Amino acid sequence: MNFVTMDSMLVSSMLVGSISTCVMSATASANRASATAASSGTAMTTTGAAVACEGGCACGAIRYRVTGGPTALVLCHCRDCRIASGAPALAWAVFRTDDVAWLHGEPRQFVSSPGVSRGFCGRCGTTLSYRRDTRADCIDVTSATFDEPGRFAPLREIWTAQRLPWISANASLAQHPGSSKSG
Ligand SMILES: [Zn+2]
Ligand SMILES: [Zn+2]
Repeated sequence: MNFVTMDSMLVSSMLVGSISTCVMSATASANRASATAASSGTAMTTTGAAVACEGGCACGAIRYRVTGGPTALVLCHCRDCRIASGAPALAWAVFRTDDVAWLHGEPRQFVSSPGVSRGFCGRCGTTLSYRRDTRADCIDVTSATFDEPGRFAPLREIWTAQRLPWISANASLAQHPGSSKSG
């Protein structure tokens, strides 16, 4: 399903603040990297520095790291996300594919519709990623699987036409009945 289409230029410009936050408050691993860099005399810069935000599945078999900021942040109410995850809605952070590295293990893939692959841990089942063949330069990562998921608050709700009746709309987020290009 074509559910995370986006106006990446627009979203990127909206995200400057949150990206900076991510850069400034580094993760533990980034702190270690910083300490290593400091001890080796390599100056760390905030511009172009690795954003090292990490996450992984419930059992620890799969770990990932993203660098660079997300190009979109959405909360998706589509049935495909719901049934794939077993959750009433799914929050996604979209990154450039080159900015996502699998540090340990790799997701198994479930083709949920033609050209769409959903990655999950083959051991514990955590839903981790979404890729679409027609948009291979991007990969969506489930925001909730980050070690610090609070950094990746959604900016918009999409596919609200399929939202469960007992889920309230977040009035502070843009609402889209379909993909982010709708409504
Ligand atoms: Zn796992
Ligand atoms: Zn969805």
